[in-house]
Amino acid sequence: MFHIFELFSLYPTFFYTITFIISLMIGSFLNVVIHRLPIMMEKNWKAEFNSYFDNDDSTSSNTEPAFNLATPGSTCPKCGHKIKAWENIPLISWLIQRGKCTSCRAAISARYPLVELLTGLLSLVIAFHFGPTYACLAALILTWSLIALTFIDADTMLLPDQITLPLLWLGLLISIDSIFVTPTEAIIGATAGYLVLWSLFWGFKLLTGKEGMGYGDFKLLAALGAWVGWQHLAIIVILSSFVGAILGIIILSIKGKDKNIPIPFGPYLAIAGWLTFLYGDWIAQQYWGYVLG
Ligand SMILES: [Zn+2]
Repeated sequence: MFHIFELFSLYPTFFYTITFIISLMIGSFLNVVIHRLPIMMEKNWKAEFNSYFDNDDSTSSNTEPAFNLATPGSTCPKCGHKIKAWENIPLISWLIQRGKCTSCRAAISARYPLVELLTGLLSLVIAFHFGPTYACLAALILTWSLIALTFIDADTMLLPDQITLPLLWLGLLISIDSIFVTPTEAIIGATAGYLVLWSLFWGFKLLTGKEGMGYGDFKLLAALGAWVGWQHLAIIVILSSFVGAILGIIILSIKGKDKNIPIPFGPYLAIAGWLTFLYGDWIAQQYWGYVLG
């Protein structure tokens, strides 16, 4: 590993190129996770529900084909055309095919290449920020997880435990080496992150009878607290309301006003958390400098 880092340090252009290419492929995988993980969760819930109430549903569950991140292979949702390896090259295939299925010419959503490009670009930011180090590797895992969570929550209002909890454990684990924050800062950050939103949730619910957010949001802020430390939790919460206001105005102006659309909080937390992770010290300086005059 150290040899690779030394090689990367000698040839930074090589390091950035490799990071970008691998991240595009990761972005392609994130598209699969974003699309399939919520479906897998729903299938699990149904199976659990049926076994709990002892529904005689064994015939249908046994005959159901396997569905996970690897199987079945990707197909065109319109015509069922099996997507071949050369049609699955991040970014490039979509551009060559001009966003259409090679078999039935049905439009392929531009979101797929955009998620790939976003993953590539944000990973480059991380690579520039940390250089070829273990910190860079850890920061990339955080970045990729937050991208998946952002899109899953925007699509389905879910923040899967399968992503938030490993992120929390990983944040606590790497604090042992104090790569980003000390173990004390990480542990208090994770605990406080959970409890802040949990208290807000229950306060709001007891006062109004409404639920403003979900347990996934608490777990996400706990995970972020483990990565940025308790000192920066306030910055995440303040920043997420700014991000929410800005994105809210953009979404309202595009989609029009509809009070019945529930707004997921996860994407704002994820974006604010990522910015705080990278620029928390600088943001804190600016903000408190401004507030305190
Ligand atoms: Zn097709």
